[in-house]
Amino acid sequence: MISLEKFRSKRIAVLGLARSGLATCEALAKAGAEVVAWDDMTRPELPSGVSCRDLADENLAGFDALVMSPGIPHTFPTPHPVAQMAKDAGVPIIGDTELLAVAQGNAQFVGITGTNGKSTTTALIGHILKQASKSVSIGGNLGYAVLGLEPQEDRGTFVLEMSSYQLELTHSQKFKVALILNISPDHIDRHGDLSGYIAAKERVFDNQGSDDFAIIGVDDEVCTALAQRYAERRSRIIQISSTRQLEQGVTAVDGLLVDHDDNNRIVVDLKQNARLPGAHNWQNAAAAYACCKALNLPVEKIVEGLLSFTGLEHRQEFVAKVGKTTFINDSKATNAEATEKALVCYDDIYWIVGGRAKEGGIDQLLTCLNPIRQAFLVGESQDYFAGSLVGQLPYSKSGTIDQAVLQAFEAAELSMSSNPVVLLSPACASFDQFPSFEKRGEFFKEEVFKLTDK
Ligand code: ADP
Repeated sequence: MISLEKFRSKRIAVLGLARSGLATCEALAKAGAEVVAWDDMTRPELPSGVSCRDLADENLAGFDALVMSPGIPHTFPTPHPVAQMAKDAGVPIIGDTELLAVAQGNAQFVGITGTNGKSTTTALIGHILKQASKSVSIGGNLGYAVLGLEPQEDRGTFVLEMSSYQLELTHSQKFKVALILNISPDHIDRHGDLSGYIAAKERVFDNQGSDDFAIIGVDDEVCTALAQRYAERRSRIIQISSTRQLEQGVTAVDGLLVDHDDNNRIVVDLKQNARLPGAHNWQNAAAAYACCKALNLPVEKIVEGLLSFTGLEHRQEFVAKVGKTTFINDSKATNAEATEKALVCYDDIYWIVGGRAKEGGIDQLLTCLNPIRQAFLVGESQDYFAGSLVGQLPYSKSGTIDQAVLQAFEAAELSMSSNPVVLLSPACASFDQFPSFEKRGEFFKEEVFKLTDK
C-alpha cells in the first residue's frame, strides 16, 4: 500500500466507496488524515478512524480536498451536488491518482490513455518492464486501486491506465512517457462534447518537460490532428501506426514492427505471438515498444516481452483447444466496434453473439461476416439479431451461453474446417444475463472446461 504520510492531519472528504474509494480511505486513515467518507448507494465497512457521514450535510469549506471516484460526474452532464459544493467552497476535487502522484513524486510514471486498448497496452508495457527485471507497479483504471500498489523507490516505474475521468481528477501528475493510443467518440455525455473528451485525454501531456515523451497513435483523424499540433511545439513526440508506414516513429503494418527512428530497423514480426492478434493489438504493441524504447530498454528485451505476453482475460483470450476446435473468450467486446476487431482475426468462426444490444445492434458487422460459418444467438437480443442475420448467415437461437457452447462445438467439430474457432464476442452488454462482462466470460470458460473434462 502507498504511504500517504504527506496527508497526515489533513481533512479529506471521500465520495464513492467502491474499490478505489475504500483503498483511499484506508491509506489516508493509516497516514493519520481525518477522513469523512460517503457513498450514495452502498454502506461498506470502513477502515477504523474513517467517519461515514453524508457529505451533502457537511460544510465542505473545512476540508483540504474532495477525493472523488472517477465514475461520479463532477462536470457533465451535471455535477454531483457534493462536487458542486466543493467547487463553490474552492476545495480542490481530486482522484486517487493525484494522491499517488503527490505521495510518490520521486518515482517515474507512464500514463496510457485512448478510447480503446488502454488495458492491453498498460498490461503489455508492465509485462515488458517486469520481464526486463525492472521494478514496476501496474494499475489505474486497470483493475487495481492505485493506492493499493507496491510503492516504488526513485528508480521504479508506475505504469498507469488513465481513463479520461481519472485525468480530469489528476492535476500534478507528470508522466515520463504519456501515450494516447486512439480517439473515437465515446462517453461524450460525461465531457460535454467531443472537444471536451479530447481535452480530457490531452491532459495526459500536462506538466511534461522537454525530456519527457509523448506517444500518439495516428490511425484516426482526431489523433492525427493532435500529433501534428504537438509536433510543432514538442521535441520528443513519437507517432505510431498499425495501418500505414510513417517516415518517423514506429509502425506495425501487417504485424511487422518497424522502428523508423532507428534506421528503419525491422524489430519483430508480431504475428509470431498469436495472443496479440489483429491490427488493433499491433497498434498496442507499437505503442508499448515506443514507450519501452523511450525508457531506454534494450530492443532485445522489448522483443522478448512482446513475444511472451499472453494477453488479458476476456479480450480475445485463448481458452482451450478441444478436438480440433479452438475456443476464444472476447467477452469484453460489449459493442460492435470491438467485435469487428475480433472477427477479422480468425477463419471458420462459430460465433456466439448477443446480450443487451447497443444502439445499431450488429448492423455494422454485416460487411464482415465472411469468416463466420454459423452464429449462435444468446440473450435478450436474439430475435433482434436474428432479424439482422436472416438471409446472410445460418444461425441458431441458442438462448444461453451454455447451450451455445454445446451447439457451436458440435457444429465446429462436424465441419470440414481443420481449425475452427468458437468465438464468444457478444457485441452487447452483459446485464440481461450477467452482472458484468467478466462474469459472462468466466461462465463461458467454465462451460468450455466442462467439455475438456469430458
Ligand atoms: P480499454 O481498456 O481501452 O477498454 P482493452 O485493452 O480492454 O481497452 O480492449 C478492449 C477491446 O477493445 C478489445 O477487446 C478489442 O476489441 C478492442 N481494442 C483493443 N485494443 C484496441 C485498439 N488499439 N484499437 C481499437 N480497438 C482496440
